[in-house]
Amino acid sequence: MAAGLRGPTPHFSWRELGSPPPNARQAAGRLARHLERLRHLRGGRPLVIVSAYRSPARNRSVGGAVRSRHLVGDAADLGVGVCTIAQAEAAGFVGIGSTGPWAIHVDVRPGPPARWTYD
Ligand SMILES: [Zn+2]
Repeated sequence: MAAGLRGPTPHFSWRELGSPPPNARQAAGRLARHLERLRHLRGGRPLVIVSAYRSPARNRSVGGAVRSRHLVGDAADLGVGVCTIAQAEAAGFVGIGSTGPWAIHVDVRPGPPARWTYD
């Protein structure tokens, strides 16, 4: 994995990925490679990340799930309307949380696909 100073892939910096600590960087790099695919599927337009890696304290403060993938570093929340569920699937994301037709949480968890809807 090419891990530059700025970030793991050309279009995503470590800062945009939530400044993951060293033990979360492999997962964040995997996330970034999928985000690059999603960005490409969207015609190369910039893809704004609302939240990616979260420290345990940060995760608690935002009311994140106790076993959130954001703690691992392989999850990102996107703005509503950024990408469709179909685009997230085409980019290879494994966990997809959606509201209506839009994917707003994407992750590359190990294991079977997970789908859920936010009320
Ligand atoms: Zn999320």
